[in-house]
Formats: sequence, structure tokens, C-alpha cells
Amino acid sequence: MYKFSSKQKSFFRTQLLNWSEAFPRALPWVGEKDPYLIWLSEIILQQTRVQQGKPYFEKFKRKYPTVKDLANTPEDDLMKSWEGLGYYSRARNLHFSAKLIANERNGVFPTRYEDIRALKGVGDYTAAAIASFAFDLPYAVVDGNVYRVLSRFFGITDPIDVNEHKKQFASLAQDLLADAPPAKYNQAIMDFGAVQCTPKSPSCAACPLQKNCQALQKNMVQDLPIKSKKIVKKTRYFNYLVLNIGADVLISKREQRDIWRDLYEFTLLETDSMKTQGELISLASWKALFASTSPEINRVSKPFKQQLTHQTIIAQFWEISLDESSFSKIIGYIRINRENLSNFAFPKLFDWYLQDNSLYLDL
Ligand code: SF4
Repeated sequence: MYKFSSKQKSFFRTQLLNWSEAFPRALPWVGEKDPYLIWLSEIILQQTRVQQGKPYFEKFKRKYPTVKDLANTPEDDLMKSWEGLGYYSRARNLHFSAKLIANERNGVFPTRYEDIRALKGVGDYTAAAIASFAFDLPYAVVDGNVYRVLSRFFGITDPIDVNEHKKQFASLAQDLLADAPPAKYNQAIMDFGAVQCTPKSPSCAACPLQKNCQALQKNMVQDLPIKSKKIVKKTRYFNYLVLNIGADVLISKREQRDIWRDLYEFTLLETDSMKTQGELISLASWKALFASTSPEINRVSKPFKQQLTHQTIIAQFWEISLDESSFSKIIGYIRINRENLSNFAFPKLFDWYLQDNSLYLDL
């Protein structure tokens, strides 16, 4: 357990609450008391920037004003509403938990921390946020913002991605909450990390904590917080075959445990590098798909790159026209009219391709 003087902790708490009173954030979920809407906002904001999440929160609030509305929506509709936000497991977990609350709790959101924490997709941070914002229960939030603010102000150099230290940070955060009003205190520290003590350019010159900030005094602001591990990112190459049969195209649903589960896509051949046309048609997976026929590739898009947290996806779209007899040999796909593509949820880079399909490379 980290030991800091009560004077230092009290200074931190008081200055933080004063700062929050002086600079309230005007966001649609700030001050919200409905646990369902708080839950919705917190799940949307996991791994998502506020400005990106805001229109989604407003859309979800409008389309699914109660947990029962969310529970009753078909999964494909929900995925379509979530389209573009990424990390689709969040939408699946929301749906699962909404159905549980609607069916087993008659639509009444749990009021105890333990029951909130037990919902699928809700971790310690989200449970503390919902419990404190909706019910003023004394559970301190600990997320990336909180790690950063605490490690800088108190000058903690322990890596924040080591379990033992995570526990110490959580216990310090809980200690700091003390007898402060939970909702206000949690909102204050989250906002302070998001607005004042930001990762790259914290406003130290105008910071009410600067007098006692250890990182500032030791010239370590840019070094804290410390992480022990570097995330290894891998690059994947997706060759999407846009198989056209007249006005129709073939799509399928991604059902494997991988990125973009439950979203739709064109016919995918994943490779270990970018492929030329000659290399593509020599692939065993190409031959397995088309058997003895070898359809002509009409055109290929420029490569589209989508950066995910742990992966970089580079996708090229190969447009191919099939006749009915070649099509009949391809199984496991859904045939739809191209005009209906917008009814299905696709990964974000499909939008880029569909909106930018004037850009083609020479074959
Ligand atoms: S002085 Fe700078 S580093 Fe310290 S808490 Fe304030 S903004 Fe963060």
C-alpha cells in the first residue's frame, strides 16, 4: 500500500473537487442518474474517444431509451447501430446483459456494486462508474486517466501494467475517495485526466495541483505513468474478393473468434503479405474457392489501412464478375443486391472502399 501524508491526499482531493466545480464538462452523460444510460455511455466510451462516442450515445439513447428496448432489438440491428465504433464484443455484451436485465430482473437495473460488476462486459472501472454516478456508492474509478493523474501527482514510478501495482493504485484511489461525494469525485478525476493532465500535453502551467505535483517537481511529467510492456502489433493482409453476379454480390458473416465478429464482409482470402494478381490466383485458397474455373479480375482497389489496437489491417478489394454457373459452385455465402449493402454492418474500411471505389490500380 502506498503511503502518502494525509495533508498531501487532502490537498489532492480538495483541489480536484474545486477544479471540477470551476470547469464542469458539458457532455450528454455527465450528471446522468439513470444507471442504464450511464452503463450505455461507459460501454460506448471504452476504447473510444469522447468526440467519437458522443453521437453514438445520442443515437442509442434515442433508439433504445430503456434497457427493454435494447434487449428487444434484433442482434443484426444492434450491430448496424454500433457500426464504425469498433470492438464489437462490447455490443454483444451489452445485448446479452440487457436481455438478462429485461428477462430476469423485469427491466430493473441492479443497484448493488457486486451485481453491476457481474454483468457481462462490466469490469471494475465500469462498475465503479455506474455505482457511483447512479447511486452515489463509494467506489473509486481507476482507468488510464486515473493511473496517469495519480502516478504524476504522487510521483509513482511503478509500472501500471503489473498486477501487484494495479492493486496498489486501486487502493490509493479508494483511499483518496475517502468521504468525498463519490459521483462528484469520480467525475472530477476522470475529467481532470481527460482535460488538464492529458497524456501528451498536460496544462501544468495552469494546474491547481502543480504546487505539490511530484512529476512536475522532478521533471518527470512526460515519463509517467510507466508501462513495463510494449504492445506488439501485427500486420494482417486481407484480400477481399468482391464477387459480383449481375447486380448482386456475395457476403458472409464473420463468426470465428477474431476481430469484427458478427460483422459482414466480402469473400476473404487472408495472406501473409500484399499480393499481386498473379500471386493471388496461384493461392491454394483461390483454387479451392473457384475449383477448375478461373474468373477474371476486373479491377483492384488501392490498399486500405485500418489501425486497430493490436493489429494493422491492410485490405485490398478485388472486383470479380461471376456467371451463374461459377456462382453455383461457391457455397456458404449470402447473395444480396448491392443496393442493400447498407442494411448490413461492415467493418469501417468497407465504407472507405465503397465511398472511394473510383480509385483503382492498374492490373
Ligand atoms: S502539474 Fe501537470 S503533471 Fe502535475 S497534475 Fe498538474 S497537469 Fe498533471
